[in-house]
Amino acid sequence: MARYIFITGGVVSSLGKGLASAALGALLQARGYSVRLRKLDPYLNVDPGTMSPYQHGEVFVTDDGTEADLDLGHYERFTGVPATINDNITTGKIYQGILQKERRGDYLGATVQVIPHVTNAIKDFVLHGNHDVDFVLCEIGGTVGDIEALPFFEAIRQLGNDLDRDQAIYVHLTLLPYIPTAGELKTKPTQHSVKELRSIGIQPDILLCRSDRPVPQEERRKIGLFCNVRPEAVIQALDAVSIYHVPIAYHKEGFDDEVLRAFHITDAPAPKLEMWQDICDRVIEPDGEVTIAIVGKYTGLKDAYKSLSEALTHGGIANNVKVKLKWVQADVFDSEDAVHHLQNVHGILVPGGFGERGAEGKIKAAEFARVQNVPYFGICFGMQMAVIEAMRNLVGDKSANSSEFGEGENPVVGLMTEWTKGNELEKRVEGDDLGGTMRLGAYDARLTAGTKVAEIYGSCDIKERHRHRYEVNMECREQLEEYGVIFSGVSPDGLLPEIVEIPSHPWFIGVQYHPELKSKPFEPHPLFASFIDAAVKQSRLV
Ligand code: GLN
Repeated sequence: MARYIFITGGVVSSLGKGLASAALGALLQARGYSVRLRKLDPYLNVDPGTMSPYQHGEVFVTDDGTEADLDLGHYERFTGVPATINDNITTGKIYQGILQKERRGDYLGATVQVIPHVTNAIKDFVLHGNHDVDFVLCEIGGTVGDIEALPFFEAIRQLGNDLDRDQAIYVHLTLLPYIPTAGELKTKPTQHSVKELRSIGIQPDILLCRSDRPVPQEERRKIGLFCNVRPEAVIQALDAVSIYHVPIAYHKEGFDDEVLRAFHITDAPAPKLEMWQDICDRVIEPDGEVTIAIVGKYTGLKDAYKSLSEALTHGGIANNVKVKLKWVQADVFDSEDAVHHLQNVHGILVPGGFGERGAEGKIKAAEFARVQNVPYFGICFGMQMAVIEAMRNLVGDKSANSSEFGEGENPVVGLMTEWTKGNELEKRVEGDDLGGTMRLGAYDARLTAGTKVAEIYGSCDIKERHRHRYEVNMECREQLEEYGVIFSGVSPDGLLPEIVEIPSHPWFIGVQYHPELKSKPFEPHPLFASFIDAAVKQSRLV
């Protein structure tokens, strides 16, 4: 029988609820329990797929092709449990389902209302298919008091009654701000936040209090008293050296012990934290440092590339080096020479992206890397731009372009409308809804034996996650291979190029998929581990 942990937030957003949930998941796993993590997002979009990365950070993609909140990335990175379509829901999706049912007449003439219809739909989502796990951690997006989040808070309040005693607990994450003029950490915002929570019927069992300095015992006692929480269940959550220090740091503060105590579990095994300790040691005491330039469009908001920067960190963990990121806005190359920004870096990465702005800059970055023998990693859009660059400058076809940028003479990257997945034919229609036209989720690819990628993966059969509309045109394969750019991975039906590489270059690989989505600190993705290894070798040359 699954137990439920509801995680809410108060005072301000961006306190790291997703990370706290992921870390708690990891701590419970370290004691031998199985976990599942779910996220309830109160916004009205059906999924974050159509939201700008500037608004909401990266769109995380699961194996089953769900475009999900980036917190699901944290969950996977910390627990290794692959997320699915059943792990992220939004108000938009809940209403979409309810309105479809209403139109079909499924409610048999009833008045359709927030309570019980919306709250029931939320509860069904939370409870669905959990017979095989010990703990379900369910995070509610936003902060308590948000108008749009009310049905979610009401639903989890009701679940506290619907479920057996000892089967559901509430963890509330707050902030204790330090006021320099008073020389004190202030507890009042936390008191107000809990008051708000209690006014809608939820009494938190545990308070996780973010703070930039230690919280004195007296303050904890005071918070406990005013918030009706035992003082030991007021946990200080200090800023950590790195996100991978969070599980051990929260364990030392007694977080997982308090969770077990709230459930009255007295026979839990001690946690095995050696794996996390090893990761922390590698992050804290690296043997060296490399600098990787990320040439992208959304460099102003680091959350837009969350999985990517984490995967690079994992590549560093695999090689025992610190990976410094140099964010380069792709359109600077419109007016400045690439060399100014890229000459001293040890690797260049062009990540996924959409639209024409900055594309020429990314093409210049790929050219710089190819010509100067600097390790190059092109991901999705970064692979497409590398192919355009090679067609223009190696093959000599200056008109090479992508149909994403409009009708061109030679779209070496274009819209594919049919391909096979497993035994099924998949189709997409030009001009279809923005949310429904992408190649999304995990697809198989076949690698050519003896190529660099086959060696890196240690296998010729891989499965990686996709999120894109356009594909490199197979028709340019012959020309490119003549000039030393080989298609070392293709889809099983042979229609879609998945990987290009330049065997004569120290490390030049472009992949049509997003390997960063599957990387974990305890299992760095082989391509990132190999790319950082190449960067280490490059650092010895420059
Ligand atoms: N814009 C490109 C496409 O849709 C690449 C997308 C991406 O990088 N994720 O194909």
